[in-house]
Amino acid sequence: MQFYKESKQGKLTCLLCSYYCDLKDGQIGVCGVNKHLNDKVECLVYGHISAFNIDPIEKKPLYHFLPTSKSLSLGTVGCNFHCTFCQNHGISQEKKIDKSTYTSASKVVQIALEKKCASISYTYNEPTIFYPYAKDIALEAKKYGIKSVFVSNGFESREVIDDMIGIIDAINVDLKSFNEKYYKKSLGGNLQQVLDNLIHIQKNGIWLEITTLLVPTKNDSKEEIVKIVKWIKENLGVNVPWHISAFHPDFKENNLPRTSFESLKQAYDIAKEEGLNYVYIGNIGYENNTICPACSKNLISREYFNVKSYELKDGFCTSCGEKINGIFWKN
Ligand code: SF4
Repeated sequence: MQFYKESKQGKLTCLLCSYYCDLKDGQIGVCGVNKHLNDKVECLVYGHISAFNIDPIEKKPLYHFLPTSKSLSLGTVGCNFHCTFCQNHGISQEKKIDKSTYTSASKVVQIALEKKCASISYTYNEPTIFYPYAKDIALEAKKYGIKSVFVSNGFESREVIDDMIGIIDAINVDLKSFNEKYYKKSLGGNLQQVLDNLIHIQKNGIWLEITTLLVPTKNDSKEEIVKIVKWIKENLGVNVPWHISAFHPDFKENNLPRTSFESLKQAYDIAKEEGLNYVYIGNIGYENNTICPACSKNLISREYFNVKSYELKDGFCTSCGEKINGIFWKN
C-alpha cells in the first residue's frame, strides 16, 4: 500500500498521519521528514535510525504485553507534534537527517534475533511518520515470531491504523491532555482525533495501553484528570492500563517543577475510585504492581522497570482464575 494519494493541482496528500498534508512538488510536511519528490511522497528517514537501544518492554511502558521481555527500540528524527515538554526533543524536533548510515529492515530484525528480543519498538519520535520503514521491519520480524510495538502520540491516519492490523501488535498512546486548546497550541494535532483514534485502535484489535505525563499546571488539575479517566472508562473500558508518569523540566518547560508525588497519587486515586483496574505510576517506582481485579492477588510485582515476581498462568490469575487483559506468555 502506498501512503499518499493524488490531490488537486499536482499536489499529493500524505496519508501517514491525520494532518493529511497536501504537498506540492518539493514540499515537505509538518513532520519535516515526508516530502513530495519525483511524483511520490518519500519518507526521507527510511533506514536512518537516530537512536537504537535494547529496553525492557516495561520501559515503553507496556505492562500487559509480554512482561519481562526485551524490546529492540528504535526511532528516527522528526515528529508531527511539537510538545513544549518533549523529553526526546533532541531527535523529535531535529530536522537534519543523518544519512551516513543506512539500516535495512532485515538488518534490524537480525539484530533483534541476535539480542533475543521478543519485540521491536518504534519509539523515541512519532513512528507513524516513518510507518513505511516500521511496516517493512514489522513484516520481516513476523517471519521470526518477533512482535512490533508503537509508542505514539495517537495522531495516526485512519489508513495507517487500518493497515496496522496483523502488523503492529501493541501500542502505547500518549493521551497528553483533555484540553483541545492545549493540544492545538502547545502539542500538535487535536484532542478529538486522538480520542477517535484510541477507539479505532482498540476496535482493530491492537493491544492498547495509555500514558499521561502529568505536567504541573498544564494538565494536572483534578477536573482534567477526572475527564480523562471518565473518558477512558466510558469509551475503552476499565481494563485498559493507564500509566501516569512524572514530568521533569525539559525543552521549553525548564521553568516548571517536577511533578509532585501528591499530584501523581491524586490522579491514581481518581482512576481507582472511578474503577479503572490497571493504573500505574511507573517512572517513580510506585503503585507499579498488577493486582487481580477479582481477588486482589499481586500478580506481577515490579520495581521500576524490573519484574520481581510473575504469578500469571497463560494470562489468568493463579489464585482465582480471572482473565487478565493483555498479551501474556503461555506458561
Ligand atoms: S506524516 Fe503527517 S505531518 Fe508528515 S507529511 Fe505526512 S501527513 Fe504531514
